[in-house]
Amino acid sequence: MSTIAAIATPNAAGGIGIIRISGDEALTVADKCFKAYSGQKICEMKGYRASYGQIFEEDSPIDEAVVIVYRAPKSYTGENVCEICCHGGLYIMNKVLRLLFTLGAVPAEPGEFTKRAYLNGKMDLAQAESVMNIISASGDAALNAARNTLKGNVSRKIGEISSALITAAAGLAVWADYPDEDIPAVQTGELRKTLVRAKEEITRLILRYDSGKAVTEGVNTVICGKPNVGKSTLMNVLSGCSRSIVTAVAGTTRDVVEETVRVGDIVLRLADTAGIHETPDEVESIGVKMALERMESADLILAVFDVSRELDKEDYSLLESCKDKRCLGIVNKSDMEAKFTQEEIEKYIKECITLSAKNEESFEKIKEKLEKILGTEGLDFTQEILAAERQYNCAKKARECIEEAIYALDSGITADAVNVSIDGAIEELLTLTGKKAKEEIVNEVFSKFCVGK
Ligand code: GDP
Repeated sequence: MSTIAAIATPNAAGGIGIIRISGDEALTVADKCFKAYSGQKICEMKGYRASYGQIFEEDSPIDEAVVIVYRAPKSYTGENVCEICCHGGLYIMNKVLRLLFTLGAVPAEPGEFTKRAYLNGKMDLAQAESVMNIISASGDAALNAARNTLKGNVSRKIGEISSALITAAAGLAVWADYPDEDIPAVQTGELRKTLVRAKEEITRLILRYDSGKAVTEGVNTVICGKPNVGKSTLMNVLSGCSRSIVTAVAGTTRDVVEETVRVGDIVLRLADTAGIHETPDEVESIGVKMALERMESADLILAVFDVSRELDKEDYSLLESCKDKRCLGIVNKSDMEAKFTQEEIEKYIKECITLSAKNEESFEKIKEKLEKILGTEGLDFTQEILAAERQYNCAKKARECIEEAIYALDSGITADAVNVSIDGAIEELLTLTGKKAKEEIVNEVFSKFCVGK
């Protein structure tokens, strides 16, 4: 395996910059450019030790640095690793990195350090994905969820479910060889119980992911409503700054303004759209089209209505498009004389609130409602929570296979057919944790990482 190097700290100036080297030659490469003030060679150092000295390019010192040594297998990647902590200027970090390339290291691919950790059995795929979630966590709940996955609680749970299925499949294999004989009733009963239990446990993971996603990944949210109902004002209340242009002239928000905001533990990826209405303005009508498309693909719609004006055709057409969608109806401008009541909106949208976007207390009201709609109230982040959409899809496919197996068992189809479905479920679970993931899947997972991680 080659020896790789990359800057592990952000691609920006900072107090300290860390350049990471990993591979068989990591310590020798570091020795070729680093001279410790103590005179000790990096190759002679034990793991978990640091050395203070200078980095040399040929005979000229280019920076002072501390080098931390990790010895295989007790390192992040499981290989020999050196972390050169030098001054955090972009120029100096890149100069040290280029120097390492001339001394035998090669540039690390995105996520290659973590990929090596996976390949060396330091963590499985579910844990590797949680590393990214730790980096991108924007609140305590998201951080706790990611930390628990990194500790391996999802992997353990999936391991338990797949072990039970493997045992069941092995028991059944005996009967698969004798398709003409019925599987004994005792065995069918036990097997059915195992399958139902596995299905329930996977369902719990799937449901928790749906709610947990609001915290860990963010909810794709769109704010809709006629021009001037107060969408931008509301977005500004949520984001705590004047991001959208707020004016009293209808149709100021022409394109889609995006913002990620945290409402309590919930992360909303908010798009403030042009109001949905008929318009002769060409630019504006593109905005309206985008708004409708956004609504179709959104996980959550915040539909805003202005209580100071009678509901009209456009309001009703928005209400119609909100039916059967996850939606919060917001009756805005409660400080003004009301021309309709919240009950009218509730005929179309189950969850509604009346507020004034100009009042900062509205934030709390929205937060409580969102927790209810998104199911994050009382969500326990110390429980297993799947760390990525990929894991979620594997869990859903595994559940489908188990449902097929239960159906096959109940309809008295051959043991062979039941086993094919159980094997399908096991395959999906092993892909989830990466115990048996195809190379393309592994590459896809790590391609989403940053260089240096
Ligand atoms: P948008 O076109 O839906 O984005 O609406 P804006 O957020 O630009 O708001 C339109 C106008 O309504 C602005 O003048 C806001 O100040 C005003 N407005 C928004 N929310 C409220 C509210 O709760 N009460 C009152 N009285 N005015 C509001």
